[in-house]
Amino acid sequence: MRRLAIVSLLINFSLALLVFYPASAQAQFVESWAEYRFNEEIVFYARLRADAPPTSAHVFFQAHADTRTVVGEAQIQAQEDDVYLLSYTHLLADYHLRAFSQVNFRWEIVAADGEKVNSPAYEFFYEDNRYQWNSLEESPFRVHWFEGDVPYAQSIIDAAEKGFFQAQTLLPIPKPQFMEIYIYPDSNSLQAALQPHSRDWVAGHAEPDLGVIVAALPSGPDQEILIQQRIPHELMHILLYQYIGGGYDNLPVWLSEGLASLTELYPNADYELLLKDAVGRKALIPMAALCQTFPRDASNALLAYAQSTSFTRYLHGVYGVSGMHDLVAAYANGLSCERGVQKALGRSLSQLERNWRSETLAEDMNAAALDNLRPWWILLGVVLIAPLILVAARWLQLRLSPNSNIEQTSG
Ligand SMILES: [Zn+2]
Repeated sequence: MRRLAIVSLLINFSLALLVFYPASAQAQFVESWAEYRFNEEIVFYARLRADAPPTSAHVFFQAHADTRTVVGEAQIQAQEDDVYLLSYTHLLADYHLRAFSQVNFRWEIVAADGEKVNSPAYEFFYEDNRYQWNSLEESPFRVHWFEGDVPYAQSIIDAAEKGFFQAQTLLPIPKPQFMEIYIYPDSNSLQAALQPHSRDWVAGHAEPDLGVIVAALPSGPDQEILIQQRIPHELMHILLYQYIGGGYDNLPVWLSEGLASLTELYPNADYELLLKDAVGRKALIPMAALCQTFPRDASNALLAYAQSTSFTRYLHGVYGVSGMHDLVAAYANGLSCERGVQKALGRSLSQLERNWRSETLAEDMNAAALDNLRPWWILLGVVLIAPLILVAARWLQLRLSPNSNIEQTSG
C-alpha cells in the first residue's frame, strides 16, 4: 500500500516536471506568415527560436474543402542568435489552390536533439492580389472592385438585396449569411482568376461553400442590365447552398440553374427566341439530359439555360413555393433526378416535361406526334397512289396509240 503511494507520488512528480520543463522548450516558433503572387507562387515563412538549427522542417497546407494536404520541405537559414528562418516556395502550376479560399497551414520540425516540434495552425485568405481592390460593405454583402466608383459598387449591393427578395418569391429562404462579391471589368480577367476550372464563356461564378460570388461586369450601355442579371443569379446559388447545405451538390443542374435564372431581376430576352427556335427545329434537349451537367458548347449551353428557366418557372407556377421547397428538399435528401420530382410533385420527369412543352411552349404534342409519322404517310401515299398512276398511264397509252400511228403514217 505504502509502496503504491510512493510510486504514485513519483509519477505525479515526473508529470509536474514535464509540465514545467517541456522537452521542446529549446525550439519555439516565434511567428509565421505566407506571401503569394496569385496563380503563380506562395512562399511560406516561419521564424524559429532554437539552440541549434533543426535537422528538418516541413510545412503542411490545405485550401478550404480541398482533399489534399500539400507538404513542402523548407529551407533553413540562420539569422541572428538562436533564430532560424524557415521558408518554402510552392508553385501554383504544380498544384492549384482554389481562388478566394481560406488556406490553413502549419509547420513541423525535427529539432537538433531529435524532438519533433509542431507549430500552431495558421491561415490566410487566398484572393486575387493582382489588383488593388476597393471594398464596400453593407451587411451581409461586401463588394470588391477595382474599376468604377462607389455608387457603382453600391448598385451591386442593391442588386444583391433585390435578388434576395426575388429569391424569396421562389423558396422560403432565410436571411443570407455573409457574402463576398468580387467584380471584374471583363470576362478575361475573371477567367484568369478561376483557371484552370473555368469554361471560356463563363461571366459569373459562385463558390457556394465559400460564400463568394465572382462576376464580370463590362462597362458600357448594358452594364446596368448585367448587374441586375449576374449578381442575383450567382447570389441564388449561394442562397441555395445556405438553405440546404451539402445536399446542394445533388440538385439537378436544370433546377439550380433554373432557380438562379429566375432570380435575375432583368430576364434574358434571348431565352424566349432560343426556345421558339429550338421548338421549330425540334432541337429541344430532353430535360433528363440536363440533370448532371450542361452542354459544354456555348450555343447549346444557352439553350440549356433557356429550357431550365422556362421549365422551373412552369413548375413554380403549378406547384408554388411549397412545391419548390419539397422539390429542393427531396434532392437535398439525396434522391435521384427522376425520383426527386416523383416524390415531391407526384409525377415523372417526362410527364412534367410533356406538360411544360404543351402548356408553356404551345407546342402541339399531337402535331408533333403526327409529324413523327410523316415518313409513314409518305410511304402509305406511295403504296396507294403508285398503282393508280400506273393504271392511268396504261389507259392514256391505249387511247392515244391509234392517233399517234396515223400521225406517223401521214407524216
Ligand atoms: Zn448559374
